[in-house]
Amino acid sequence: MEKREQLYEGKAKKVFKTDDENLYIVSYKDDATAFNGLKKGSITGKGVVNNRLSNHFMKLLEKEGVPTHYVEELNDRETLVKKVKIVPLEVIVRNIAAGSLSKRLGLPEGTPMKLPVIEYCYKDDELGDPMINEYHIMAMDICTKEELDTIADYALRVNAFLLDYLKDKKIELVDFKIEFGRTSDGTIILADEISPDTCRFWDSDTHEKLDKDRFRRDLGGVEDAYAEVLRRLLGE
Ligand code: ADP
Ligand code: UDP
Repeated sequence: MEKREQLYEGKAKKVFKTDDENLYIVSYKDDATAFNGLKKGSITGKGVVNNRLSNHFMKLLEKEGVPTHYVEELNDRETLVKKVKIVPLEVIVRNIAAGSLSKRLGLPEGTPMKLPVIEYCYKDDELGDPMINEYHIMAMDICTKEELDTIADYALRVNAFLLDYLKDKKIELVDFKIEFGRTSDGTIILADEISPDTCRFWDSDTHEKLDKDRFRRDLGGVEDAYAEVLRRLLGE
């Protein structure tokens, strides 16, 4: 598959056209940002880890009945994906209180949720991705009710599968963010990435953080944490 013009350079990935109008190539970078781009840095090898891990998760999720954009891993950093129009929502699922939820609700980090919590944020960097609810989503015509029901159903299925799968690898899935898109025929599929950049992973025994919080909070050992997740999941 020929890589054509670059369409977009984001904070963590670049997106390229290909000679197939229904396919894109995403290229994972080592660049890291936090706090809506205010903190910038680089995590050596992160692009390779995130590419591999995200593809691994998406392949497993396809088997679980969640359609994804994954087509083929091309090399260490690049993957062929189905082109979608991204639904401008960050869909967050939480099992344990952490991060912004802990702050907002005064729940200490580590407090288990009785049920998984779904939150939606409107994907708009200038506004700082504000949290919105189903009414805003309908009122702003971000997607239809049917599409949102599909998105919520897939998000909970992703959560249930990953929780179980990661438990076996001694990783607690605290929370994560996913994105969905519409293919040319309007089908909703899981897009973007699932990686230590977009999930909170804690070691099941020590509760040590194995994700981007090590970068956000200057905890050190960032590269090692990403490598450890790759090792536990793929044995590499
Ligand atoms: P950001 O835009 O937040 O800086 P990235 O650096 O990860 O994030 O950029 C990747 C961009 O590509 C994101 O805007 C994401 O929504 C988008 N994207 C992810 N998967 C697809 C896809 N299959 N088709 C089209 N766009 C996609
Ligand atoms: N998240 C993300 N991108 C964002 C915001 C959040 O991938 O722009 C992920 C984050 O890694 C965590 C979950 O979504 O796994 C919940 O994040 P939270 O709302 O607690 O925000 P944060 O503490 O990162 O500001």
